Amino acid sequence: MYKSDIEIAQEAKLQDIREIAKKLNLTEDDLELYGKYKAKVDYNLLKKDNGGKKAKLILVTAINPTPAGEGKTTTTIGTADALSRLGKNTLVALREPSLGPVFGVKGGAAGGGYAQVVPMEDINLHFTGDFHAIGAANNLLAAMIDNHIYQGNQLGIDARKLTWRRAMDMNDRQLRNIVNGLGGRGNGVPREDGFDITVASEVMAAFCLASDIMDLKERLGNIIVGYTKDDQPITARQLNAHGAMAALLKDALKPNLVQTLEGTPAFVHGGPFANIAHGCNSVIATKMAAHFADYVVTEAGFGADLGAEKFIDIKCRMAGLSPDAVIIVATVRALKYNGGVPKSELNQENLEALEKGLPNLLKHVENITKVFNLPAVVAINRFPLDTEAELELVRRRCGELGVNVALSEVWAKGGEGGQELAQEVLKLIEKGEASLTHPYTLDMPIKEKIRAIAQKIYGADDVVFAGNAPKEIERLEKLGFGNLPICMAKTQYSLSDDPNKLGRPTGFTVTVRQVKVSAGAGFIVALTGEIMTMPGLPKVPSAEKIDVDENGVITGLF
Ligand code: ADP
Ligand code: MG
Repeated sequence: MYKSDIEIAQEAKLQDIREIAKKLNLTEDDLELYGKYKAKVDYNLLKKDNGGKKAKLILVTAINPTPAGEGKTTTTIGTADALSRLGKNTLVALREPSLGPVFGVKGGAAGGGYAQVVPMEDINLHFTGDFHAIGAANNLLAAMIDNHIYQGNQLGIDARKLTWRRAMDMNDRQLRNIVNGLGGRGNGVPREDGFDITVASEVMAAFCLASDIMDLKERLGNIIVGYTKDDQPITARQLNAHGAMAALLKDALKPNLVQTLEGTPAFVHGGPFANIAHGCNSVIATKMAAHFADYVVTEAGFGADLGAEKFIDIKCRMAGLSPDAVIIVATVRALKYNGGVPKSELNQENLEALEKGLPNLLKHVENITKVFNLPAVVAINRFPLDTEAELELVRRRCGELGVNVALSEVWAKGGEGGQELAQEVLKLIEKGEASLTHPYTLDMPIKEKIRAIAQKIYGADDVVFAGNAPKEIERLEKLGFGNLPICMAKTQYSLSDDPNKLGRPTGFTVTVRQVKVSAGAGFIVALTGEIMTMPGLPKVPSAEKIDVDENGVITGLF
């Protein structure tokens, strides 16, 4: 019988966070303590002398996932622990979990098994309050918009062209579409409105791409909240909201320092969606990690077609970062899923399906090594029911294509189970062959940028721009947004825009149905279908299993 994640986490003997900070040459003075095991670290410490070191950046990404999640976070944490064991000064940088998935289906996002960040209950359950602060900043802007309209609407905002929505960090489908401002004169102006989950808010994306508080304020000011009757954009700056929004975020913007089960320091900070946003932890946390450690291991959400592409093309480009090595996580289960096996049958050996699903992995490997020009290793995240024959087949197929594979057993064994992977990563870094290339340049027309991603990364024949998309692209280019990077919003389950096309699809086109600018975040979102920005709870939500006893000990958190 395996222990649950929370059982393992609660058995761990945590070190005082001040001891963890010492590993980074940070003193107690540098910390803002949130109890014994959590601290915020001021980003102004980026100015602190670090002896001119430039850390190696290791990106963890994956094949197209199954609905269960395939172990990127677990592998990220385990690899960092493995590097620590090899005597390397290592820091993990991860996203903060959202309460939506914690109480819904997917569960937490603090790793699993013996590769976790702790205290996992705190990290999973609103942590240091960053997301609430982000929600508050989002909702302050919403309140100021409606108040502006109520107070005479000097800017001439068209209430039917408002794009700004309210936000809350919860899966609550009831709030997806609402009517508010009811109750007659004196109680606001009635209009259709709705809520997004906080991680889908543009404030979250802007927060995660900001380099400091002034840059954040600038980005918040650029947020477009809607349009006037004659389609002129209205920004948060015109409403004078950005200063107060940034004020609400001044502490949230400081990365949260915690530890792994093996005492490796970890920054857990920010958490944008990986579809309508870019899906990785804050720029500030990654930069701080690189400032204080020699090796930084970080994760990008979803598969490499979305997560790694955006990490590289949006975040790295904006922040001046560049990965030195990439770990592509694959599981036998996900490869079988890509080979057509339904979720319920993934526990049975199936070499035929595995063989059919392998091309998915190989396409992602090609993308990382040939399109982005970055050295990569495939990490096979071992699950308890994987058979030797299945593992051997993956090794062989990857080997035939000259791809190095390392078996990762960090879920079962912690850092010790990641030695082979860590050694391979170090080898790749030592060779120093990373030479980052982007699939598109910022000066290309919007349509060409989208086409480049679809053709080079997804393997599409072409892109179709449907509905309003062509007109909107033209308008955005006229408004001066033509030079922004692209944030693709597409299904994570397929390399194509059709979740049912698994493996390595060919001969398909990608349809872009809608295009919008996130002027505050600083990217253009291209949507290939409906993207849910306020998820609902399943029939039996995880929340039903979560409990707390008289000593404050939490149970049922996976
Ligand atoms: P991702 O970051 O790709 O979404 P996670 O690392 O969060 O995936 O893992 C998803 C879930 O799978 C977690 O509950 C984790 O405990 C579990 N898991 C990860 N690796 C393994 C493994 N090798 N064996 C069993 N369960 C695993
Ligand atoms: Mg994850």
